[in-house]
Amino acid sequence: MNIQLNNKVCLVTGGDRGIGRSIVQSLAASGGVVAFFYRTHEDFAGELEKEVAATGGRARAFQADVTDEAAVGEAVRTIHDEMGPIEILINNAGVNRDRSFAKMTTEEWDDVIAVNLRGTFLVTKAVLPNLIEAGWGRIVNISSIVGQRGNFGQANYAASKAGLLGMTKALAVELAGKGVTVNAVAPGFIETDMTAGIPEEVTQKIAATIPARRFGKPEEVAPAVVFLASEQASYITGHVFSVNGGLYL
Ligand code: NAD
Repeated sequence: MNIQLNNKVCLVTGGDRGIGRSIVQSLAASGGVVAFFYRTHEDFAGELEKEVAATGGRARAFQADVTDEAAVGEAVRTIHDEMGPIEILINNAGVNRDRSFAKMTTEEWDDVIAVNLRGTFLVTKAVLPNLIEAGWGRIVNISSIVGQRGNFGQANYAASKAGLLGMTKALAVELAGKGVTVNAVAPGFIETDMTAGIPEEVTQKIAATIPARRFGKPEEVAPAVVFLASEQASYITGHVFSVNGGLYL
């Protein structure tokens, strides 16, 4: 299947590194014109712009914290004015603040919900009028296996990622008649900065429980996102696409 995004304008939140970076590269390689948000790493963002340009693609970085409603609104307006209306939105920005529930602080709870769930709400709110007006659109929310089955020490993260699944399904129903699909991708354990802090012996123990016997790579998640963003996925909505090496079925 040849996926061609035909210069559609895409927005990827948290595009400067990890899974988001691979999504930016893959959308651009498939003919998308990609805008991406970064929060602090201007250097990573600049490198990525150059990397994509060197392969003949188009990607532009915009600094925006997804928890800041005004900053999100301004960045989306700038993208609209300078690149055109956004038709494909990938809500990828996410954080974790892991601790057992008994020890978890209110701040740790609020931080994770603010970025992963409220941030997705704010960016989607800002972009949605474009999609509805175009009568065509794709939203892909990056959830997690942790939102599907829970995990020790991640009550805040699990709640945010399960919340995203509920939001995905509710919005899918609201938008199905308007040419806009809304899906979620739920990665398992993927090699990025988010999992880099897990001690080596724990990583090995986790890997032994994964039927594929290893963590996944960002470039093994991105193709699922690009497919759901494509014309070919027009009749798929409200779906949760697991990319987890068989860990949760
Ligand atoms: P990462 O830490 O490498 O990247 C997270 C990205 O989110 C970064 O680009 C960061 O700049 C951005 N971000 C964080 N807070 C932000 C904010 N307030 N505003 C704007 N951007 C912000 O982690 P990753 O593993 O690449 O994670 C990407 C997504 O995939 C996250 O939603 C994460 O929850 C999800 N996920 C990761 C794994 C994994 O094992 N790595 C598994 C399942 C789901």
